[in-house]
Amino acid sequence: MGCILTQEGFAGLMRELAKSYRLYGPVNKAGEGRFAGIDVVRYDFIRQAEELVLDRKSDYAFKEILTPLSETLFYFTENQVKEADMEMQEVLVFLRSCDLHAVRRLDQMYLHNGPAEDPFYRRVREKLHFVLIGCQKSGPDCFCVDMGTNRCEEGYVFSIDNIDESYRFEVKDEAFLPFFAAQGCTEAPVTPRYVTENAVHVEVPETVPLSICKSKLWDEYSVRCINCGRCNFVCPTCTCYTMQDAYYTDNGKVGERRRVAASCMVDGYTNVAGGGQYRKSNGERMRFKVLHKVYDFRRRFGYDMCVGCGRCDMVCPEYISFSACINKLARTVKEETT
Ligand code: SF4
Ligand code: SF4
Repeated sequence: MGCILTQEGFAGLMRELAKSYRLYGPVNKAGEGRFAGIDVVRYDFIRQAEELVLDRKSDYAFKEILTPLSETLFYFTENQVKEADMEMQEVLVFLRSCDLHAVRRLDQMYLHNGPAEDPFYRRVREKLHFVLIGCQKSGPDCFCVDMGTNRCEEGYVFSIDNIDESYRFEVKDEAFLPFFAAQGCTEAPVTPRYVTENAVHVEVPETVPLSICKSKLWDEYSVRCINCGRCNFVCPTCTCYTMQDAYYTDNGKVGERRRVAASCMVDGYTNVAGGGQYRKSNGERMRFKVLHKVYDFRRRFGYDMCVGCGRCDMVCPEYISFSACINKLARTVKEETT
């Protein structure tokens, strides 16, 4: 069902929703960007409608609610282990189509990648409901159309589009209808907006020969990339983490185990016992990341991991473009296979 609310109706809707759910959405953080006086749009819990940023893509993805940067899994003392409590209210997560597609990738990695689900991910995931933010226009770095993530038709409880002074909703989950009725919404057919054209285009190669591993294509990234890992931390589909044990006592018998976000671009990620390191140069790390996002994941699960949100392009301090790299990969594959 579709319905339309005024600005006041939308504010009332958010107030009422906040009584039953925690609301998690993109928020403008004034002056907290990477340079002095620059804003950044990050995800955070919100209390009122005015806080929600609907007209700009967030600089950081929503994923920290599902995969926090640091998460205590359990506590231990001598022979006893206690799983960390999780007291979490139901949450409404406001996100765009590319990010809703990214949820499928995260689910794939944490729930359907091996014989057992990740229980820590599962217990948070069950609390989340998604609200689709319609896209009026493409961001300058987006390439969602070529990645097939520009549109979502399922997986959300309702959608939201702001057009001038009115707010338009497609309500998919009937459990939410009373919230809209209470605000005196006007029924009307509503289709969430989505973009059909991006300025950036990518050609993702169907197959990649093994020779690409030794290609000179990656050399420029050894020079340009500073392995800061920012591209991984903004990416809605990056899932890597490391484990850390924090001991409260000198004898190492009391403490907690934490899961902490990791980056395949950062030095030390591939260190192994005995002093070995699988990928020493930044070019090799870039090769691993790019092939994982647009080739290896697809070979395993049938679809690409990258959703074309363009955040990694936006955040890179060295202006390294992931989309440009995909196209360089496609050109090199053609040269090597024809
Ligand atoms: S953000 Fe840029 S410089 Fe930093 S690791 Fe990623 S590609 Fe390298
Ligand atoms: S690799 Fe870059 S463009 Fe692709 S999903 Fe991650 S951040 Fe977005």
